[in-house]
Formats: sequence, structure tokens, C-alpha cells
Amino acid sequence: MEQIDTVVIGAGVVGLAVGRALALSGREVVVLESENAIGTGTSSRNSEVIHAGIYYPAGSLKARLCVQGKDMLYAYCAERGVAHQRLGKLIVATSPEQVPALDGIVAKAAANGVHDLQKLTAAQARALEPALSCEAALLSPSTGVVDSHGLMLALQGDMENAGGLLALVSPVQRIALRQGPATHPIVVQTQDGTELACQVLVNAAGLNAVPLARGMDGLDHNLLPQAHYAKGNYFTLAGKAPFSRLIYPVPEAAGLGVHLTLDLGGQAKFGPDVQWVDDPTDLQVDPRRGDAFYAEVRKYWPDLADGALQAGYAGMRPKISGPHEASADFMIQGPADHGVPGLVNLLGIESPGLTSSLAIAAHVARLL
Ligand SMILES: Cc1cc2nc3c(=O)[nH]c(=O)nc-3n(C[C@H](O)[C@H](O)[C@H](O)COP(=O)(O)OP(=O)(O)OC[C@H]3O[C@@H](n4cnc5c(N)ncnc54)[C@H](O)[C@@H]3O)c2cc1C
Repeated sequence: MEQIDTVVIGAGVVGLAVGRALALSGREVVVLESENAIGTGTSSRNSEVIHAGIYYPAGSLKARLCVQGKDMLYAYCAERGVAHQRLGKLIVATSPEQVPALDGIVAKAAANGVHDLQKLTAAQARALEPALSCEAALLSPSTGVVDSHGLMLALQGDMENAGGLLALVSPVQRIALRQGPATHPIVVQTQDGTELACQVLVNAAGLNAVPLARGMDGLDHNLLPQAHYAKGNYFTLAGKAPFSRLIYPVPEAAGLGVHLTLDLGGQAKFGPDVQWVDDPTDLQVDPRRGDAFYAEVRKYWPDLADGALQAGYAGMRPKISGPHEASADFMIQGPADHGVPGLVNLLGIESPGLTSSLAIAAHVARLL
């Protein structure tokens, strides 16, 4: 059986960031990815927004790692030439009843260390975005967008320059946690039967992270959450949007509301909505869901023309809380949580996982 210091499962943005951080810290690392390319999972099916860290409960991992991760990400993109833009975003109250919620958002953001929100009247918001309809708004100047694939390529390059390896088409099938004095007590088996014994295993398998953890012999399964899946559907706009910032409604229960985001080429998309599903591979967009988008978008952009929205793509949220529960925090379980030396499980890494990726990697390195 081959022996290696560290195995990371999953070459999404989080697995690659973890692989990079551990390789840079001097570890011998291999990242095992089931597909034949990096970043084919949730990391390429999201809004590519660099979140400011506004909404998450104070002190939560989401709040801390998003705020740290945002700064790390902007610095990293500048240093490595990864395409990004600090576009700014407007959070809009579209009815008088929603206006008080903006103060709550300012307070929540401040508790997370985000102090740059600016409150705008409707006239001030319209001076920035003339096509916008709202009662009042908040401007978040530190929100931006990033080329997520360019980011992943840069992370992979850094990892490989530091001696790390990426093994594509290597689906992990079994993980055994051996008791006793073995120097490499964790054994990872891939689908072709190859076995790798390692000292450190980081499970960054995204939608598959909970099922993989449940399959680990020797781990207390009572500590593991239930996996849930919430699809987010996007609809794209035919033609150019008359906006230069991201536009978000006041948030809803399970997502951030049907918002408008722009890619680096200025193309607008709307979404993601929230559709709870049983099958995490169900990524078809039902064009009929577009009907509900028109009503939501017209609350802040009344001039959206009939027929302007086209079914786009969907991403799947790896949730660890169900439809009627409060949204769970990231669950990052290290040796102090489950008692298994060298093992870290990254569970429920939904949004803001892209923004937080570099901070999650630093957190994992600290846990080990
Ligand atoms: C609709 C939507 C919108 C979002 N928008 C944003 C946003 O704007 N900003 C933001 O910060 N975050 C956003 N997120 C969250 C962000 O996309 C994720 O948190 C992040 O991409 C998770 O990365 P990951 O590497 O953990 O998972 P993934 O990208 O899913 O990577 C996991 C990898 O593991 C591989 N894998 C799985 N099982 C195995 C196995 N057995 N063996 C080997 N490999 C395996 C998969 O093939 C995959 O490549 C959004 C998420 C969704 C769903």
C-alpha cells in the first residue's frame, strides 16, 4: 500500500485551497478528484460573488471566514492576476415595511466587522442605478465578483509548485480509520482499488462530504449531520442589463432572494431561487420557474420586459439543515471534535464557501 502524508478529497475551490495551504506548509499532498477536471461541482455553479460577510450570525464560522476570506481573496486575486471586480452591491427595500430591516442588516454587518455599508434614500440609490425602483437601499462597496475558474487554476498552480499533486478521475470509495500505532492510520481506497495510507485526510467533497463521512469506519456517526439539497436555479437576461452593481432584495429564509448578479463580462443573471430536492444530481432548470422570477425581479426593476428571461443553469447547495430549520453554519470537524487524529470533515460548505475558501484553508491548517 502506498503511503503519503496528506490526502484531500475533492478539487473544488475549497479542496484546492486546502491542498495549496497544506502543500505550502511543507506537507506532501495529493488531491483526489472523481471527475476528469477541477471545479466541475458547486464551484462552477454559483454566483461568483465575493460576499462582504453581512448576513451571517455574529461569531459563526460563516461570518468569520467570509470576512477574513474576502480580504484574503481580494489580495490573492491582485497578487496572482485572477480576474475580479469590486462592483459593489445594493440591498434594496422594495416596500415601506422592508425599510426597517435595512437597519437590522447594518447592525448585523457591524457585529461581523463589516463597517462600510452606506444607507441610501430611494433618490440616492436611483442616482447610482437609474433603472432601480426601491424605497431605500444599502450600498455594500466591498462586494465584488471573481472568475472562479481562474481562481481554481491559480490555486492548483500554487499547490503543484509547492510539490502537491492532483489526481483526476480518482473517486474515493472507502475510508478506513485504523486503530493502533500505524504511522499512516487513515486508509483511502479509490474506485479502481488503489489504497493510499495517510496521516492527514481532509474531506472537501462538497455535496458528497456527508455521505463520505458516513461511510468512514471508525468515526462516531452521531456527530454527523443529515445531508439536504437545495437547488438554486438561475435565469439569464437576453440583452444588456441597465445596472452596474449587484442588486439584492432584503434576504429570505433559505437564500438571499432572487438577486441580480453580473459576470465579469457584464452579463446579468437572476437567481438563485431555492428548490429543495432529494437528488443532488438534479441540475435541470425547469423553464416554468421563470414565471415567479418576473414578479420578484419587477419589485426592484419594473421595466423588465416580458420574455426577457431565459432558463440558465442551476447549482446545488450542500445543506446540513432542512427546509424548515434555521440555516446551519459551516461544520468543520477536526480531531478535537471527533477524536480521530489527522481527520478534517468539511460539511455544509454552501455560500459563502467561494468567498471563504482561502480562510477555510487557513482554518483547516490550524486544526491540523
Ligand atoms: C446556487 C449557488 C450559488 C452560490 N453562490 C456563491 C457566491 O456567489 N459566493 C460564494 O462565496 N459562494 C457561493 N456559493 C457557495 C460556493 O459555490 C461553495 O461553497 C463552494 O463552491 C464549495 O466548494 P467545494 O470545493 O467545497 O465543493 P465542490 O465545488 O462541490 O467540490 C467538491 C469536489 O469533490 C469532488 N468529489 C465528490 N465526491 C468525491 C469522491 N468520492 N472522490 C473524489 N472527489 C469527489 C466533486 O467532483 C467536486 O469536484 C454558491 C452555491 C450555490 C449552490
